[in-house]
Amino acid sequence: MNENEWPDDGSEGRRFHRLPVCRLLSGELTLPLHVITGSGDGPTLAITAGVHGDETTPAMMIRDLLDGLDPANVAGRIIAVPLCNPPAAGAFGRQTPEQHGKTDLHEVFPGSPTGNLTQKIASVLARQVIDRADVLIDYHCGGSGGRLQERVDIHMGAEGAVREGSLELARAFGTVLVHDNKLGGTAVGYANSQGKRAFNAETAGVYLAPSDQDGYMSDGVAGFRSVMATLGMIDADALPAKRQLLFPPSARHEANPAHGGYLVSEFQSASQLGRPVEKGTLLGRMIDMHSLQVIEELRAPVDGLLVFSRYSGAVDAGTKSFALAETARSEWLEP
Ligand SMILES: [Zn+2]
Repeated sequence: MNENEWPDDGSEGRRFHRLPVCRLLSGELTLPLHVITGSGDGPTLAITAGVHGDETTPAMMIRDLLDGLDPANVAGRIIAVPLCNPPAAGAFGRQTPEQHGKTDLHEVFPGSPTGNLTQKIASVLARQVIDRADVLIDYHCGGSGGRLQERVDIHMGAEGAVREGSLELARAFGTVLVHDNKLGGTAVGYANSQGKRAFNAETAGVYLAPSDQDGYMSDGVAGFRSVMATLGMIDADALPAKRQLLFPPSARHEANPAHGGYLVSEFQSASQLGRPVEKGTLLGRMIDMHSLQVIEELRAPVDGLLVFSRYSGAVDAGTKSFALAETARSEWLEP
């Protein structure tokens, strides 16, 4: 057995493994892997979270999902990694804190065991998790700084049955917005390249108000369970099919500040995402923190649905603040 292969006797129940990556100056780096093996036959669903180290809320959704499952009532298996980039999380940052090479784990799949630390982590995830799964959900959310997200992403580069199957599962997750996104180099892009159905969930944020957090947590677990129901892994109904907007990158219009300052946001509630916003609507104002004057207004660049927004607070030049999916350049998918 390769030292990086987690043991598997196929028996029903819960297991927890630590996947070795390498030894760091600060100690052994391992990735956490939760395995629930059901009593019945079925697909293996991989769930990953924390590819970006500051996107920590989906780990708690995974916790709630796993706590609510009885292996005796599951067909197939869940393999879940709640924290894919522990060094980034430990630095409260998005990317791996290292000196050389690409440091965004979301860009380097399938990685390399002889590459930099980011590539080593990707390689373990590719071989030990994605290669051993049939389906992948890679969960992202707004990172530190109060950004709210509400969409799922499929990979533009996927074709044929892989694309159709990925779209079906992404739709079952239940968000109004479905982004046909460029996901080459991501975990999902790699999974698709291996013929596996996969999508990104991209909802919630971190350090949110309880009113937003509670809804995102329950919606995330409901989304997981809806996908599992669609895959026949649990005896439950999928979420009701709904009208959803499939938007390509060309329909995604961001409104980000040209200068750093304090953003006073007009869209600070999760309930506003996925809703129509008219072109020209005031999204937020930027206040210079030296002169205390309003220096910029951020306005909706097109008619569309709100894809992400941000709580009020300090942001720097170019920080992702708001985005709309332009309905005229998108496709409504009927139930
Ligand atoms: Zn992310």
